[in-house]
Amino acid sequence: MTGAQKQEREQYNYETFEEVLEELDGKDYDKIGLQGPDGIKPQIIDFASDLEDEGFETVIVGASTFGACGIADEKVNRMGADALVHVGHTRFLHPEKADMKDYDVYYLPYRENRDLMSVLEENYDEINEDETLGLVGVTQYMDRAEKARDFLESKGFEVVEGKTGLRTSEPGQVLGCDAGAAHNIAHKVDAFVFLGSGHFHPSQVSEAGKKVYVVDPYEKHIWIEPANSLDDEMQAEYARVLKHKDKQKWGIVTSSKKGQNYMKAVEIAKEKLEEHGKDVYVFVEDRIFEADYRGFGIDIYVNCACPRMTKDWQDLAFVSPRALKVLDDDFGEE
Ligand code: SF4
Repeated sequence: MTGAQKQEREQYNYETFEEVLEELDGKDYDKIGLQGPDGIKPQIIDFASDLEDEGFETVIVGASTFGACGIADEKVNRMGADALVHVGHTRFLHPEKADMKDYDVYYLPYRENRDLMSVLEENYDEINEDETLGLVGVTQYMDRAEKARDFLESKGFEVVEGKTGLRTSEPGQVLGCDAGAAHNIAHKVDAFVFLGSGHFHPSQVSEAGKKVYVVDPYEKHIWIEPANSLDDEMQAEYARVLKHKDKQKWGIVTSSKKGQNYMKAVEIAKEKLEEHGKDVYVFVEDRIFEADYRGFGIDIYVNCACPRMTKDWQDLAFVSPRALKVLDDDFGEE
């Protein structure tokens, strides 16, 4: 990554609301929009009050935001806002290179206040000392990545320099839809150290083919996510495709959210299905719920929106575009 690219990735992210206020101060804005995820809604109200105190009008987006993929620039623009403060996440880069910066958006990632460093310091002997490590994690803890790295190196571990992923703007940062930060350095490491909690993100990292030591500030210890732990889920998706392979009507779903609108993926999936003689119907919605897709007489949908949703559907089959490859394998045998 060139210096200019690095600067472009970083310049939209701020560490404190005061920094955002300072930046807004010099701008010719009258009204500012605000949005953020559940859990920090009281802070959003505080930020709105602070902005009002500074003489700005404000408008708040009611729906919770799951990621910066869902920037509500169009909504607040319709309300007459000149800029948007997106709280909770770092700037999101579109994987298909669609323009994500055609509006003034200020990103204020949320940093979780839990004592992550004590968990690492008290449990680091769980990590095999002969292993070269890659350091990755979720936004909430990436402000401590350098500290964690210094600590591990002081204990004699070799830690490989992190890189950004396809959609992320902090080195080592992973999202539910982007473990590129891990994949980019997987060939240089024996294992990953992950800063964060839950299985969802570590399992994405494990897809890079290495085990993951999870420094978990909720569980307050270090536990291991095995390498390639998503293999079973992928097999289940292949099975869903094979179960429906003789169905004539197939749906493709994408989102109208800017960062979840994957038109190239739609095109590729459509082509693949049409190659196999299917009738293909393309759907779009902001937030995607299974209930909306009942009643069309279609039993299987390809998810070209947030990949995190794929495993959430129960009655209808919902599969990722890559699961379609089994159509080739299966049909090839005929
Ligand atoms: S996992 Fe889904 S919600 Fe999260 S950033 Fe990616 S596309 Fe957005």
